[in-house]
Amino acid sequence: MQPSKIVCVGRSYAAHAEELGNAVPEQPILFIKPPSSLVSHADGIRWNASLGSCHYECELVLRIDHRLSNISDAEAALSAVGAITLGLDLTLRDVQNQLKAKGLPWERAKAFDGSCVLGDWITLEQVLDLNALEYQFYVNDELRQHGDTRLLLFKLGELIAEISQCFSLEPGDLIMTGTPAGVGALSSGQQLKMVLPLKEHTAEWIVQVH
Ligand code: ZN
Repeated sequence: MQPSKIVCVGRSYAAHAEELGNAVPEQPILFIKPPSSLVSHADGIRWNASLGSCHYECELVLRIDHRLSNISDAEAALSAVGAITLGLDLTLRDVQNQLKAKGLPWERAKAFDGSCVLGDWITLEQVLDLNALEYQFYVNDELRQHGDTRLLLFKLGELIAEISQCFSLEPGDLIMTGTPAGVGALSSGQQLKMVLPLKEHTAEWIVQVH
């Protein structure tokens, strides 16, 4: 099912806020990618190189399976999650820096076609604990990012509740929960790998940079 929107969280890990010289936020920074930004890991990555650098941001992605509107209870909010995967919130960093300097919205840098790269969906029975979930991201077999939901500035349930107070979440909507430290520029020919350890096996998705 196509989501009505993909809600993304900025600066959800303190170490990532610091690496880009940003303040740690007091409330979640939210932005939205349109459904037209979605591609599968198998499609690989393409961007308009005339716009400058494209950064990877590997993130835990939640799929909301029940409608949530103006929820305050974090546990109820978390129980609406039906599946998870890993994804890449691709960011045209040069464009974003120009927009940020002018106080303009980020969509030109964050919402382009192909800017949301997803792994396959994993049902929650396969997940040990959403609030203590780790994952890894590799570029050409070199570890670049290590996510750990215990280190999120806002716990997942609180985050989803907060989002539902800004935008009603419809079944199928996605949440990109924000990137850990270690973001960097992509270059053509790289092979990326997103790794999600589960109860009985480890899910891995390879993404080619075209
Ligand atoms: Zn991100």
